[in-house]
Amino acid sequence: MRKPLVAGNWKMNKTVDKATLLVADMLPGLEAVKTVDRVICPPFTSLMVASGMLAGTEVGLGAQNMHWEESGAFTGDISPQMVKEFCEFVIIGHSERRAYFNETDETVNKKVKAAFEAGLTPIVCVGESLEQYEAGKTEAIVTAQVKADFEGIDKHDAERLIVAYEPIWAIGTGKTATAEQANDIIKNAVRKNLTTQFGEQTAQMIRILYGGSVKAHNAKELFDMSDIDGGLIGGASLKPEDFVKIVEAAA
Ligand code: PEP
Repeated sequence: MRKPLVAGNWKMNKTVDKATLLVADMLPGLEAVKTVDRVICPPFTSLMVASGMLAGTEVGLGAQNMHWEESGAFTGDISPQMVKEFCEFVIIGHSERRAYFNETDETVNKKVKAAFEAGLTPIVCVGESLEQYEAGKTEAIVTAQVKADFEGIDKHDAERLIVAYEPIWAIGTGKTATAEQANDIIKNAVRKNLTTQFGEQTAQMIRILYGGSVKAHNAKELFDMSDIDGGLIGGASLKPEDFVKIVEAAA
């Protein structure tokens, strides 16, 4: 049985003061839901304060990106070791990074390898654009991403991998894939290819999340599906009550 996981991606929102208030607001509700792994991913600037607030709780902390190199002349970036100072998790290959910052499957693959090497658990995002969706290419696109993003990953490391299937057309738009659609892609494109790459036993251990306009009212329907192991939540993770309800829906 895979333990459900719900992660909140705060994106480029909240100054340190506001992040402190947000963590304080949601922490009691999050702490209560023990049967779900709960993770929050604030901006880099709030990781230090958030890690202090989460110390001694079971709520995990994640970064939203990182470089794959250990150190060097990479102005504006942070290394896996820097992320590891505060976090257990790191989001890699979010569609916004792929769209705005030239993130490719090749860089995603390097980052996934670097994350494992640093002892971090990567939450790796895959998903198709609206154009690809409308052209009926979803399965092919997601299959290609899974193959390229996890190429050369050690089978033991893969057991800890977390994948988030996020149709780009559903992110921040209020549109969601139906629960059946999302489950179908997760099963027949994501998990099927993970099985080819890592074998049945490992693929069955990998948690696959759905992301894309998950809200308090639709979370349960999505999380009840056989192959959806939780969610990556954007907008709704900034609203404490909604985020706690979404976490409760995964229990
Ligand atoms: C995301 O950014 O990963 C996401 C799923 O956003 P939202 O929940 O706002 O669609």
